[in-house]
Amino acid sequence: MPDFSPLKQKFAGYCALGAPASGFTTYRAGGPAEALVEPGSAEEFAWLAAWCREASVPLTVLGQGSNVLVSDRGLPGVTALTGRLAALGVSGRKITAQAGVIWDDLVRLSAESGLAGLEKTSGIPGSVGGAVRMNAGAFGQETFDRLLRVEALDRAGKPVRLEKADIPHGYRRTEGLADLIITSAVFAFPEGDRGTLLQDRSCVLASREIKQPLDLPSAGSVFKRPQGDYASRLIDAAGLKGLRVGGAAVSDKHAGFIVNAGGATASDIYALIGEVRARVKAASGVDLELEQILLGDF
Ligand SMILES: Cc1cc2nc3c(=O)[nH]c(=O)nc-3n(C[C@H](O)[C@H](O)[C@H](O)COP(=O)(O)OP(=O)(O)OC[C@H]3O[C@@H](n4cnc5c(N)ncnc54)[C@H](O)[C@@H]3O)c2cc1C
Repeated sequence: MPDFSPLKQKFAGYCALGAPASGFTTYRAGGPAEALVEPGSAEEFAWLAAWCREASVPLTVLGQGSNVLVSDRGLPGVTALTGRLAALGVSGRKITAQAGVIWDDLVRLSAESGLAGLEKTSGIPGSVGGAVRMNAGAFGQETFDRLLRVEALDRAGKPVRLEKADIPHGYRRTEGLADLIITSAVFAFPEGDRGTLLQDRSCVLASREIKQPLDLPSAGSVFKRPQGDYASRLIDAAGLKGLRVGGAAVSDKHAGFIVNAGGATASDIYALIGEVRARVKAASGVDLELEQILLGDF
């Protein structure tokens, strides 16, 4: 194990050794992060990136851990959470948010400010950094619709500014961000009617409540939408609702979700993902592509 004492010195109570992924991912499953750090500023992230590079220690950056599955063997090196980068502000028709801001706080602020274009992404869990990295979206809107630019750090801790046009992106996909640490993002909006935006937001939140198993730990849709179809429809049609491996189950409420129905290990979830994929392939011929990100050794 690397000598993490410089991190303990620098981050004190914001550095923990061996913290289990059940505490920092929404699946509430997975093994320990060798070192879990919560830097309080972009400068502290830059320091951390430089330290990791110097010490040849891998660095994983996470927001709310709502789109990842961490192996039961855990995460080697440093896992850095962005939650303390929490500044959010509106100025005219622009919103600037640090990476750790809760995505839905930004969306609520946009609707309340009469700024249109992200209201349909209301209720997507996770952080601004995670939403940018994943190009998160729902009901026909996605993060990049309104993204203007991103401030980030490279793996040496050097600041990098990227305009939207610099980042190839598509449905739940971005290129070139995996090696960067996003520290903040700026979004630009057309004006909209505040009342209509807030009403749209309420409808979306209600629809999520009705359709999604929000009472159980999950990481949202497991698979991307295949061309011209829905993963959930294919999984349901293959008769897989309720299918279980250990504590992991295909949700009865929304077949696209795998839930931790109690005591699931990451291996249970991973095995169930494989089973669903194989059975959907056999039933419909479709190869489902994973949306969630596997971290660590599976
Ligand atoms: C109940 C539920 C419903 C969901 N519904 C939707 C939905 O409707 N639409 C949708 O798109 N997604 C949905 N998701 C998935 C998830 O909420 C999104 O993908 C979200 O944007 C992930 O944000 P996060 O902060 O949790 O990212 P994490 O899970 O922490 O990280 C995801 C990836 O982004 C990287 N990353 C995170 N922050 C940074 C950063 N600052 N710099 C660089 N890389 C970073 C991580 O390394 C990882 O590769 C849902 C999840 C749940 C649990």
